[in-house]
Amino acid sequence: MNEFLYSKEIECPVCLHKISVTKVKSRGCKVQKRDSDFCVHYETINPLFYDAWVCKHCGYAAQSDKFSNISYKECDVLKEKLMPKWKGRSFEGERTIDDALEAFKLILISHQIRGVNASELAKVCMRIAWLYRFKGNEEEKELEFVEYALKFYSQTYETESFPADKLDENTCTYMIAELNFRAGNYEESVKWFSRLIGSAEARKNPVLMETARDQFQLVKEKLKK
Ligand SMILES: [Zn+2]
Repeated sequence: MNEFLYSKEIECPVCLHKISVTKVKSRGCKVQKRDSDFCVHYETINPLFYDAWVCKHCGYAAQSDKFSNISYKECDVLKEKLMPKWKGRSFEGERTIDDALEAFKLILISHQIRGVNASELAKVCMRIAWLYRFKGNEEEKELEFVEYALKFYSQTYETESFPADKLDENTCTYMIAELNFRAGNYEESVKWFSRLIGSAEARKNPVLMETARDQFQLVKEKLKK
């Protein structure tokens, strides 16, 4: 196995089987750059490839920090609707981008069966878009998932109370503005960036404000053309 990877035994909270998950040693992760939608590029191994944990026995999948965080009721629904269809697939060991994409799409399936909040779906769709970006030749698929993420961030803004898990209102506003920009909806993007920049509350986050101002300029230039 890759020198930056190691495995850990855990118990699947749905089927209770022991499974082995692959983790990345933190010293292996060296940041190269961050995109304006917070996608992180790494010089070495990318921990995002290993963030989607999948149980090979029942098909349950979730992000690593949330894997154990599931109710009995959700477990029952997954046992009824997911387990009978699961054909068995292991994601242990080193992963390609395509393995990571497949694992994240399995999270979407588990999430939809469980009926999770829009903020959770937004997070997963955003990561799938980033994985397509890393592939470098799948802009259409990337855009498709940028648009899904945008839809779910917009739903989050309308229906959830902040902070929605770790997502605060300013970051959610920023994501709606930025993803509208990436999707080519420049007028919508300007509207949301203006809302963020005009907010007194958002000034408490100077880093986000600075990025928002830079992006706001870029969208306005696009609109002029
Ligand atoms: Zn399981």
